Amino acid sequence: MAQSTLVIGAGIIGSAMAWHLAEAGCKVTLVDPSDAGGEASGRSLGWTNATYENPRFYYALRRFSMERWDALKATYPELPYRRNGTLYTSFYGIPLKTVYDEHTPWGYPLSWVGAEQMQKLEPNLAVNVDEALICPVEGHVAPHKAAIFFRQMAISAGAKFLRSNARSVLCKGNVITGMRTDDGDLTADTTILAAGVHTGTLAKSAGIDLPLTAPPGLLIHTKPAPPLISRTILTENLHMAQWPDGTITAGGDFGGGAVNDDPDSGARILFERLQNTLKADKPLEYADHTLGLRPTPKDGFPVIGSPAKGLYLTVMHSGATLAPAVGALATDEITTGQRHALLDPFHPDRFHTQGDR
Ligand SMILES: Cc1cc2nc3c(=O)[nH]c(=O)nc-3n(C[C@H](O)[C@H](O)[C@H](O)COP(=O)(O)OP(=O)(O)OC[C@H]3O[C@@H](n4cnc5c(N)ncnc54)[C@H](O)[C@@H]3O)c2cc1C
Repeated sequence: MAQSTLVIGAGIIGSAMAWHLAEAGCKVTLVDPSDAGGEASGRSLGWTNATYENPRFYYALRRFSMERWDALKATYPELPYRRNGTLYTSFYGIPLKTVYDEHTPWGYPLSWVGAEQMQKLEPNLAVNVDEALICPVEGHVAPHKAAIFFRQMAISAGAKFLRSNARSVLCKGNVITGMRTDDGDLTADTTILAAGVHTGTLAKSAGIDLPLTAPPGLLIHTKPAPPLISRTILTENLHMAQWPDGTITAGGDFGGGAVNDDPDSGARILFERLQNTLKADKPLEYADHTLGLRPTPKDGFPVIGSPAKGLYLTVMHSGATLAPAVGALATDEITTGQRHALLDPFHPDRFHTQGDR
């Protein structure tokens, strides 16, 4: 008989899970009170990369996922993802040479460009540096649109989508048997918690203590502009990308400043930085800003794995990069019962999550 699964949360991670599980022949119910494509996923830069926060095991998962994005795009050209490359003139205070020295021995294609070549590659960039790094294999995805795409694919593969709110897990002894929702109790062989920053609360109902943080991230969005930049670009105080519809999304480091207390003034600062960073014939027009919370386990790394029989957790920052890998590899783990080497370092056991259930 087909294994039954409940996926709680239809952001980019839960929707990728639902699709892969349905494709693998599982009976899938995807539960979310909203059909918008995820809270964090709807407020994300969507830069796919393998340089962020990187010991080698994390690099390996990120790189695997980037290759999955490329493969998915080749099969589904309508997927809102493109491999547009990145230009780094700076990297969150880490010297570019360190980024280069750490990653190129692993085969990551980073290369140096001088000021002149940089101007040729991105002529509208008003940044004065002697050298920069480019990485042609990094990309850019619209995470909420990708979530909606994955959800549709899941439904086409036989998954059910239930617009409801999950409240707490159902247990029989030490086994998690499903979820209590606003619309009644749902039972399943495996319940997958993919509820972003809310995953900790749901895990708590299973007696699992999952240490999560939710750092805020402010992004501004412009109205459509003529093509100004083609890559994702990181400068000293701004990261930005231009979408195919011409809108530019940009965020930045506030040096520890609490932007969540005053996002309006943070947005004004970001827009001013953007205007000073790009040479545009027509002035850029501000559209709006979003303040998202990044679902971030306490040690910064994803939590992916089963902490108790019948339960599986998928919560992470960098979910835009990681969704295709997590969908595929976690589905493998759930359907075979075997741990996958690429996911092993991310198992929830590292937090000794088991509580007093
Ligand atoms: C500002 C910002 C910039 C970012 N930039 C990048 C980037 O450049 N590259 C990158 O890789 N990552 C980036 N990220 C991180 C990435 O966007 C997230 O890791 C990813 O979107 C998480 O997806 P998710 O599906 O886990 O969570 P979400 O998108 O938050 O989805 C969770 C879903 O669970 C649902 N839910 C919650 N509670 C319940 C419940 N009780 N019952 C049922 N459903 C429930 C919610 O409605 C929601 O739809 C960024 C995030 C932010 C905020």
